[in-house]
Amino acid sequence: MSHFTSGDGKKRLSLDTIHATSGGSFTIGVWGMTDALKLVVSEDKALDVNKLKPGDLRPQVLGVDAKVATITKLNKIPNTEVTVYKIQMNKVTGVYRLELQFGVDVWDWARLQCGAKPAVAEDTSKGTGYLNVHVVWATPPPPVSPLPHCSTVASLLLEKHGFKLRVTPSLSWYGVGDKPTIQGFESGVVCTKDIGNVPALSTKVKALPAYQSNKLIVVMANARTHTDPDKDPGNLAGQTVPEGGELHDMDECKTIGVKKGYIIINVNNRAIDGATLVHEMGHVVGFCGHIGDHTKLMSYGVRRNQVQKGQIAQFQSAFFHSDV
Ligand SMILES: [Zn+2]
Repeated sequence: MSHFTSGDGKKRLSLDTIHATSGGSFTIGVWGMTDALKLVVSEDKALDVNKLKPGDLRPQVLGVDAKVATITKLNKIPNTEVTVYKIQMNKVTGVYRLELQFGVDVWDWARLQCGAKPAVAEDTSKGTGYLNVHVVWATPPPPVSPLPHCSTVASLLLEKHGFKLRVTPSLSWYGVGDKPTIQGFESGVVCTKDIGNVPALSTKVKALPAYQSNKLIVVMANARTHTDPDKDPGNLAGQTVPEGGELHDMDECKTIGVKKGYIIINVNNRAIDGATLVHEMGHVVGFCGHIGDHTKLMSYGVRRNQVQKGQIAQFQSAFFHSDV
């Protein structure tokens, strides 16, 4: 899939924060550029996706041309798929995004910090080893599953911090292959507090050998937050279920913590930045609440690429971490 690289084509820059100077210029590479893709410098708006109706989601959160830069195509690096562009910034300061847009989809993005210091310094902590997740299906996979995007984004973000994401069974964009299933939840997993069928799902999850072997179980489900599917707002992307199998509100979670547990990912909804899996993993390692800074993983932001202080250490000591 097309993505950003450094100007020399050597380093992938997906989800990075690029620092530019006001009135200055820099080069960026695009691997696999096509006529169908649009390269834009856009506004970096913080939108609360939960306040949008599902039908409005994609067009509204697609970055709008910020008109702060001139983009010039330079050359293709010989013997590679990388096309190089020059980004000439106007005399502006602020935070923007570089986006590779494909219709109303975003194929890749990087945050662009121009002339301004970030409000909070980036956390560059590094961990080691593997974070192990195991995917099971509680619904037949839809034609377009959020899983490949979610796992790519989780891998990229975790790799920036030294971890490898290990997904079992291995994923394929097209393939069917080995897909472990949980039966009995085809009509839906209802993620309402104290109601719904999550406790029944938890019983099945805990019986899985992978759960016993300290992998983090990811249940791909036809999920919702309302008992009545017709009244469901349709905005649930993912849900963390703590060890006890019951759902807590976030204040409660802060006092009990999430020591073990599993994740539900809704196959019917896709967070536009694909960060749902790694966001839910953040809940599992003990970051219960949500924060307002829309660049952070634990926010409801539409372009999340930053971890919080302490988060990498929590991943390092997670029950689903292994050294090899
Ligand atoms: Zn959350």
